[in-house]
Amino acid sequence: MIEIEFDEPKRETCDCCGNTSTRLTRFVHQDGDAFSIYYVLFTKGHDEKAAYVLIGLGNWDEDAEPETRTAFPIKIWEDGGSWAVTVMNKSESPWKNVEFLGKIIDREEALQHPWIKDVYHITDHIMAEDKPVREFFE
Ligand SMILES: [Zn+2]
Repeated sequence: MIEIEFDEPKRETCDCCGNTSTRLTRFVHQDGDAFSIYYVLFTKGHDEKAAYVLIGLGNWDEDAEPETRTAFPIKIWEDGGSWAVTVMNKSESPWKNVEFLGKIIDREEALQHPWIKDVYHITDHIMAEDKPVREFFE
């Protein structure tokens, strides 16, 4: 069972257009253990209505190095009235310079990765439960 901690969103002004961007940091537990951290970024008023997500999975022990984790760059977007989830390449992700969530892998490698099912499990929970994300797409 997956449980997500929902802290307050961070709002900021987007450098490119002056609209409001929202950043989320979420801690995910599975059966009581630290399982994942994910980040979300979305901006109102951009041409592309998309939430950019970076999902980190792996070792969350306090002394564990980020190299012991793997991070998956994801885009959640609106595709003809329903939500779509796309695995991105690292270079396309606004989170590409973030190291803490783990080594960021490209789409091709991510789709072959044994943890990709956990990634989709988490995106299902994001779309069902993460309120600021839901409100952005409503
Ligand atoms: Zn902008």
